[in-house]
Amino acid sequence: MSLLEELYQSAVLQHSRHPRNTGVPERYDVAVPGVNPGCGDELTLYVAFDGDELRAVTFEGVGCAISQASASLMTEAVKGGTVDEALLLAQEFKAMLRGEEPTERLGEARALRGVSQLHARVKCATLPWVTLEEALKGPRPAG
Ligand code: ZN
Repeated sequence: MSLLEELYQSAVLQHSRHPRNTGVPERYDVAVPGVNPGCGDELTLYVAFDGDELRAVTFEGVGCAISQASASLMTEAVKGGTVDEALLLAQEFKAMLRGEEPTERLGEARALRGVSQLHARVKCATLPWVTLEEALKGPRPAG
């Protein structure tokens, strides 16, 4: 394993042990459940919008280390950005897990790149992102 791979793996461990942005926020606009029955990963994603911006993105749920780390990394990657930016990141993340070269924009979420080699776990890593897409494509309050 290269040093870079080790660093990335430690980021995954850190995020799975101490996930960021967990819990139900005081105020949110959409709550979307996501399930990966193959592994038993379950989460609910909460998004609070400020116009076109994702003011807060949090999650709660249970699942394997990969799904928890991915949810944590996802919330860190998209919060504070716009809906369009978040949808683009979701596309890029899914492309990375199909084996494509990750973009710089994905930042720390690139730590999950190696999962593209573990076909049984790809859905664990994409679950939070697919759930995010649902949350952003669904109806949301105007303004
Ligand atoms: Zn899983």
